[in-house]
Amino acid sequence: MTLGQLMAQSGLPPLEARMLLERVLTKTSAWLIAHADEAASAEAGQAFAALAERRRQGEPIAYILGKREFYGLDFQVTRAVLIPRPETELLVELALARIPEKAAARVLDLGTGSGAIAVTLAHERPQARVTAVDVDYAALAVARANASRHKASVRFFCGDWFGALSGEQFDLIVSNPPYVAAEDPHLALGDVRFEPQRALVGGADGLDCIRAIVATARAHLHAGAWLLFEHGYDQAEACRALLEAHGYRAVQTWPDLAGIPRVSGGVAVQPDDRNDLK
Ligand code: GLN
Repeated sequence: MTLGQLMAQSGLPPLEARMLLERVLTKTSAWLIAHADEAASAEAGQAFAALAERRRQGEPIAYILGKREFYGLDFQVTRAVLIPRPETELLVELALARIPEKAAARVLDLGTGSGAIAVTLAHERPQARVTAVDVDYAALAVARANASRHKASVRFFCGDWFGALSGEQFDLIVSNPPYVAAEDPHLALGDVRFEPQRALVGGADGLDCIRAIVATARAHLHAGAWLLFEHGYDQAEACRALLEAHGYRAVQTWPDLAGIPRVSGGVAVQPDDRNDLK
């Protein structure tokens, strides 16, 4: 059987079949396209069949390959972390627009997971002092591996939101927290079934983590510093109301490339202005 036939008979979408066979053969897609008429060895056939079967059982391609591209960088992913998603690049872009290139801005990523956000920010802004926290040790190991793979200087802590950061202040705080509602039927579909629930689910209405972050971040933000976070398609209004209730200014929401309200944020004010906390 040729390599092309092997892929065609897998029952997988052509792109997925090609990605799995590239992995088996350790070849590039350009090589595979040029050599599709070559005979497949028995070993390659068996190894490919095993990966194709995992995929047919629903396992995400990113977990089978152990990697996913995000903002132009390759990230290691394991089942301990959420698979980086394209819509999260919006959060990165909004953050980059607020991190000066030539100053040592202090940036914090809460619930870093694979480290995709923190590592990308540190990679794009080498002058910035990026800190990342996660409550999960296994996730932090992945994030650390990604930082070293991309030579990104990131300080990592294991802890619950600000638990490991008492007394620290930042110029920008970003987060892609768990925000899916516990009973959301979407959790039983597709790739999401294989991802860590702890990274996805934010309580009954999905907003538990966002409430905790909005409430506690203010004490860790310099006056004039931004808090930016990702949220679900139907949570923008609730997120803006939370930010406003906690005294953030310039509160707004930005849509992702699909036009879905995806990131909200606001600016922390001077402690003196915090009338609602008095
Ligand atoms: N956007 C993801 C999803 O809908 C959720 C990511 C998250 O909870 N941070 O699957």
